[in-house]
Amino acid sequence: RVAASLRRRPLSLGRPGSDSAAPGPPHFDVVVIGGGHAGTEAAAAAARCGSRTLLVTHRVDTIGQMSCNPSFGGIGKGHLMREVDALDGLCSRICDQSGVHYKVLNRRKGPAVWGLRAQIDRKLYKQNMQKEILNTPLLTVREGAVEDLILSEPEPEHAGKCRVSGVVLVDGSTISAESVILTTGTFLRGMIVIGLDKYPAGRLGDQSSVGLAQTLEKLGFTVGRLKTGTPPRIAKESINFSILNKQTPDNPSVPFSFLNETVWIKPEDQLPCYLTHTNPRVDGIVLENLHLNSHIKETTKGPRYCPSIESKVLRFPNRVHQVWLEPEGLDSDLIYPQGLSVTLPAELQEKMITSIRGLEKAKMIHPGYGVQYDYLDPRQITPSLETHLVQRLFFAGQINGTTGYEEAAAQGVIAGINASLRASDRPPFIVSRTEGYIGVLIDDLTTQGTSEPYRMFTSRVEFRLSLRPDNADNRLTFRGYKEAGCVSPQRYERASWMKSSLEEGISVLKSIEFSSSKWKTLIPQASMSVNKSVPVRALDVLKYEDVDMELLASVVPEPLRKYTECTELAERLKIEATYESALFYQLQEIKEVQRDEALQLPEDLDYLTIRDVSLSDEVREKLHFSRPQTIGAASRIPGVTPAAIVNLLRFVKTAQ
Ligand code: FAD
Repeated sequence: RVAASLRRRPLSLGRPGSDSAAPGPPHFDVVVIGGGHAGTEAAAAAARCGSRTLLVTHRVDTIGQMSCNPSFGGIGKGHLMREVDALDGLCSRICDQSGVHYKVLNRRKGPAVWGLRAQIDRKLYKQNMQKEILNTPLLTVREGAVEDLILSEPEPEHAGKCRVSGVVLVDGSTISAESVILTTGTFLRGMIVIGLDKYPAGRLGDQSSVGLAQTLEKLGFTVGRLKTGTPPRIAKESINFSILNKQTPDNPSVPFSFLNETVWIKPEDQLPCYLTHTNPRVDGIVLENLHLNSHIKETTKGPRYCPSIESKVLRFPNRVHQVWLEPEGLDSDLIYPQGLSVTLPAELQEKMITSIRGLEKAKMIHPGYGVQYDYLDPRQITPSLETHLVQRLFFAGQINGTTGYEEAAAQGVIAGINASLRASDRPPFIVSRTEGYIGVLIDDLTTQGTSEPYRMFTSRVEFRLSLRPDNADNRLTFRGYKEAGCVSPQRYERASWMKSSLEEGISVLKSIEFSSSKWKTLIPQASMSVNKSVPVRALDVLKYEDVDMELLASVVPEPLRKYTECTELAERLKIEATYESALFYQLQEIKEVQRDEALQLPEDLDYLTIRDVSLSDEVREKLHFSRPQTIGAASRIPGVTPAAIVNLLRFVKTAQ
């Protein structure tokens, strides 16, 4: 089929932006395949950038489906959501319309690593996402399965590469496009596993995607295999919550979106979560039935940081593991036992559940299951998420070896923006490691690849103090507005107001100086170590744990009162004060990294044959496979030695 599609020249490319009015197949600027978390963000971002966009997905009623946990955010993932929101993405706003339990994780640590998280009403999220997608200007949605890609033959003007120019649906109809984004999640040759049973499916109740997987393999993409799993769902009324530890939500709730000051539901009306634990009986059931559990026996790698109960029992024998009982929604009768992802046969899953405290009489509504699927080695894509092999073809989401809704959404926004920019021959929109968690995620994937499902963590990020959840708008909204056009004027104005208010507030706080003893009298709560001879700036006093803007303004109402009128502004001033001195040093380091990032490597460099630069065969192969775009990216490829980097640097400087 690929050979056929290679021969098949597009019938009519049409005028970019025209659709079925022209003869030949309908034409769109951007076609997105898949309506999951990556696909919805990609389609909406491309449309916001002004591209006529088509989202083709198996079923419209599964758009925005949360395949596993009913929650968004968490440590590192909350940062990604704030960055998606800063680029005017959807998931943060939709979560704020659908969250039922908000909790900031990592509160004991500094605000740079707080993890914004919420339990989400699964049904509401899907409804709200579908409403948003179906009402996005320039975005058309079509139900169908994409089976193949239409490709032009390799041409010299396309650097000898072939170029995607459309898609073929399972019914044989074609759609032509300037750019195509693949966001097929766990569906490429997806195979569901429960006990010893295995059957093809992308997730429970959904077909798998085999034609596309074959197309990609035949095109020469390196394909790997990964696995993941989900827990059983339990009837709420069958659980004895009264004997379990209850977790109440935060009050006030911290919204995900910069556009929201509050969320749709008051903290007192939100739902609690409950905590229970596994015990030796659970271990026994797992260990005695390994022979009935083919998912566990497979050598395919699963998510390290969201392991199945079987992996936990095998890796950490004789330990007790937490099981969080999380609500699936306001009017849902289901509870999601987080931590109990399992692929034992259904009857043994029920036996395992009822051996846990509080779940003795629990009724299992759906069994847990595992899914194994193809992913594409992400070293085959550039930082704009376009593939090296096929021009104008983009990959985003779980297809790139990541796990999680937030990782998928983050890649979706970037792919949507870049597919749109590419369709109109504009330069790519790249987020670097120094600018965002999105940059770290994509840089890690494209330079290092992954052999197990990749998830975001704060520990992956070198510039944590700068890349905070509170300042994602400052880092990305202006670039998104000016360079990509993916940000609405309203969001841009809101971010501009916040930026100028912060700058003004900081400069006012720097200008107010008091003798330290005076501050101590005025604010006895501020447990300062006071040097009596040196005056203290208000900004320095604000750094102390027990001082906030409200307290400062009660002492110096004029001019500080006005900075307390917006809670978000007051809190952000406090955070800016906290990190002021540490940031001074971090900014120097960021500048050094940016210097390396500015040293571009020629796109058409043939690492395998070039003789002007001395490199070992091993390094040549690694560079050939990953095709780094900058010296900085080359230096992060495992196995590319410092000596090779020095030689590359010399080569780049001579070539300039
Ligand atoms: P998906 O959300 O999977 O969306 C893919 C979309 O593409 C679907 O709408 C599908 O219908 C569509 N599609 C596929 N092929 C075609 C085609 N040929 N034509 C048209 N449409 C197509 N994540 C975690 O973080 N932790 C977990 O524990 C976890 N467990 C999981 C357990 C299971 C069983 C599953 C299925 C997923 C799990 N995930 C987990 C992963 C999480 O669901 C994904 O990370 C996230 O949904 C990925 O988003 P995506 O947009 O890349 O893909």
